[in-house]
Amino acid sequence: MTPIYQRARFCAAAARLDQAPPDEGWEVAFAGRSNAGKSSAINTLCRQRQLARISKTPGRTQQLIFFALDDVRRLVDLPGYGYAKVSETVKARWQGLMADYLQRRRSLAGLVVVMDIRHPLTAFDSRMLAWRRQATLPLLLLLTKADKLGRGAARAQLERVKNVVADEPGQVEAELFSAQAHQGVESVHALLDQWLGLDGSEDSV
Ligand code: GDP
Repeated sequence: MTPIYQRARFCAAAARLDQAPPDEGWEVAFAGRSNAGKSSAINTLCRQRQLARISKTPGRTQQLIFFALDDVRRLVDLPGYGYAKVSETVKARWQGLMADYLQRRRSLAGLVVVMDIRHPLTAFDSRMLAWRRQATLPLLLLLTKADKLGRGAARAQLERVKNVVADEPGQVEAELFSAQAHQGVESVHALLDQWLGLDGSEDSV
């Protein structure tokens, strides 16, 4: 268990990139279609039951939510996407914010795309993958709610997703995860440690 994730604290919300905390150090962002299980994944990784709830409060759902782990490391909860009924204006604003953030944020060290294992690689996920491709950002596809499938079916789905993204450039990982069964937590911590410079190589800042 890596204690740093337990220290996650809300530090800022940004409706535009220029409202984000200073672009220094390292951060890892979490994206996901609404209801994919993103909040549950963040809460589970940080061992806090309510942490990501703030992202769902009125007025915050279209903002970037920053959680500080220490003075130089952050997790970022990106606004959920996939609501059927949002207006074109909201959709356009969301696209602008996401593209801006993924392509211009220098401290962004990796992107986690959270997907319900039963509905992976939606059109929305593909859009995230396209933005990420341009930024050649390390990527983790997190197949969550793995407890909803049997072990064999979950493995098969993981392999299927890996095949689909086999030609994506740069570091691309895929993992099974379950907030309910606490599955995959250690693997994800290990990868985030690597991206956040916590694996020993860049620890002194
Ligand atoms: P978000 O909209 O992506 O933040 O999704 P939430 O984390 O709020 O989860 C959406 C729904 O899926 C909720 O009803 C959760 O209880 C459920 N859920 C999330 N993660 C898991 C999981 O690992 N297993 C199961 N069985 N349900 C989950």
